[in-house]
Amino acid sequence: MEYITLNNGLKMPLIGYGVYQVNDLKECEESVYQAIVAGYRLIDTAAVYMNEEAVGKAIKRAVDEGIVKREDMFITTKLWLQDYDDVQTAIDTSLEKLGLDYIDLYLFHQPMGNYVGAYRVMEDNYREGKLKAIGVCNSYPHVLADLCETVEVIPAVNQIELHPFFQQPLALQTAKQYGVVCEAWGPFAEGGHGIFTHPVLSEIGKKYQKTAAQVALRWNIDRGVVVIPKSVHKERIEQNIDIWDFQLDEQDMQKIAELDTGKSDIVNHFDPEFVKMVHSVKAHEERKINK
Ligand code: NAP
Repeated sequence: MEYITLNNGLKMPLIGYGVYQVNDLKECEESVYQAIVAGYRLIDTAAVYMNEEAVGKAIKRAVDEGIVKREDMFITTKLWLQDYDDVQTAIDTSLEKLGLDYIDLYLFHQPMGNYVGAYRVMEDNYREGKLKAIGVCNSYPHVLADLCETVEVIPAVNQIELHPFFQQPLALQTAKQYGVVCEAWGPFAEGGHGIFTHPVLSEIGKKYQKTAAQVALRWNIDRGVVVIPKSVHKERIEQNIDIWDFQLDEQDMQKIAELDTGKSDIVNHFDPEFVKMVHSVKAHEERKINK
């Protein structure tokens, strides 16, 4: 495993395993376990994925079997919008579901609603040590800059959509300016743009006996971006982490730079209907807040 150092000194694996849309909990547990066996040390879940318990079970199993120590794992989960006014309960619930006494990286999932207020409670938990690092998701450059100018603890990570077809150079530049590490969600564009058989990526891969998928991951890592590919297939889980024995050259990087479409085909944070839809998504039943 190779690591990147966050702005608070914590070491974060450059590749992790994401579990968005792994809704079958048995499958989720087994896939996370297989990922740990394959060498992944970073697991990326979220309250709204509703599979934190399955992730926790897989970690426990791997720890109990002596495959890994808790302290060698880097567990990320995320605060859902529904809980921005009850962050403490959300953090404590995630800890309980994961079966952990600290979370390595805690992110707010969307820069919507009262996200600055939510972040302040995340800062308190960071100072207490319940969260080893805190950060954000889906924060476009102007949002990240605004937040960094507002808060006390600069986010360690901004998890955003990043793949060869949506490269977001300004996001990388802004993050670098503030000492924030970018983490790529959807590193395969969720399978879009024919990425797995894309002629440019496949051609580059042939030079190194690698697949288009491996080239796409290596490209982000070579830009200093953490990747968290998702797969529920053992051979793909293994393939996706087998990326340490090659590096892309200048020409390869140039060819991939030309694939950028400058936009997402997956989400549109600038569309009011999308924002409305996000607000309607629930991670759990409403809680009674005693305040
Ligand atoms: P992704 O990793 O870009 O793509 C996943 C798709 O690629 C699945 O259909 C998977 O199929 C397929 N796949 C994986 N490896 C493959 C390979 N080597 N060859 C062929 N097909 C392969 O999409 P994602 O799951 O949306 O993104 C990754 C992670 O980012 C998520 O799991 C989640 O943890 C995080 N995320 C965060 C946000 C956010 O708002 N913060 C949003 C989206 C995602 P199989 O599973 O069938 O193999």
